[in-house]
Amino acid sequence: VALNSIIDIKGSIRVFCRVLPFLPNNRRKFDHHVMTELEKVVIKIPGGTKEFGFDRVFPVGASQEDVFCEVKPIIRSALDGHNVCVLAYGQTGTGKTFTMDGMNDHPGIVPRALEELFTQSYLNELSSQSFSMSMLEVYMGNIRDLLAPKTMHKPHETSTRCNLNIQTDTKGLVEIDGLTEVQISDLGKAKWWYNRGKRARATSWTHVNEASSRSHCLTRIAISQTRDSKDKAEMSKLWMVDLGGSERVLKTGATGQTLDEGRAINLSLSALGDVIASLRRKRGHVPYRNSKLTQILKDSLGLGSKVLMLVHISPSEDDVAETICSLSFAKRAR
Ligand code: ADP
Ligand code: MG
Repeated sequence: VALNSIIDIKGSIRVFCRVLPFLPNNRRKFDHHVMTELEKVVIKIPGGTKEFGFDRVFPVGASQEDVFCEVKPIIRSALDGHNVCVLAYGQTGTGKTFTMDGMNDHPGIVPRALEELFTQSYLNELSSQSFSMSMLEVYMGNIRDLLAPKTMHKPHETSTRCNLNIQTDTKGLVEIDGLTEVQISDLGKAKWWYNRGKRARATSWTHVNEASSRSHCLTRIAISQTRDSKDKAEMSKLWMVDLGGSERVLKTGATGQTLDEGRAINLSLSALGDVIASLRRKRGHVPYRNSKLTQILKDSLGLGSKVLMLVHISPSEDDVAETICSLSFAKRAR
């Protein structure tokens, strides 16, 4: 409770930064182009430095536990009835999937969040919760249901499960027509469905080389909660999003399909940036309609919801231009 009220004081949008470590098989050597402090990243540029402030910076040595420790209060606020959005942003290869999904012995935010929800739910005697899960992928403006019974179709083929409609009801709540929603009664079931969704995502990409970095992967936990004192269930949503790579594809000399995919990702990421920046400024009109991504997340980005953006950057001199772009994106959100 105390932690959640700290978030309220700081506002409903928080921005963290995580720096990718120099990996053993990386040809790049350690250089001192990216320096970190607890709430600051300093980048060396010709003739000086550039500084960017964050709510928290995770340096090269930070563990998955270190990251989750800071994310946990935001996950818990979904159990307090808030809609929550945790978004991993950054250039391809900087660790978005590692942070969100992780590896077997280094689980990331999604598996840890599932565990946290069931633990908290078990401990809570004042209310009873039930959880359901959906997973989807947004690719070139199409929505693909990752938990649909038949997921073997290819993402570029048109099918009923491949281009779902987004509806907003009279209360402003977003629903995606026909999206599979599975009840998850325990942690084991939750992990089983999550792994199934991940497999569905992976198998569809076997001959579209590396294109998964040019799609967004979204996991949604819907929470229905009844308190002793009330008879009506309270609903909230927790979104955990592994965003497509933010690299500026036009500058990389990409052509054809890759260029189209890159453009689609760049457009939806800038739409997301515009929405967050206008929520930040508390201006009247928020441009949700400019992308599928922002339409889907509409009711979880605005008033009353908690947003956490985790910006991932490379530590290397070779990537400084992209790193500055990512940090500038983060600055608009803050
Ligand atoms: P992205 O999803 O942003 O394209 P990945 O998560 O796939 O990037 O990370 C790229 C590679 O770096 C992967 O092999 C991943 O396991 C590794 N990696 C990323 N972050 C870390 C980290 N903090 N510690 C160790 N390995 C990492
Ligand atoms: Mg990835």
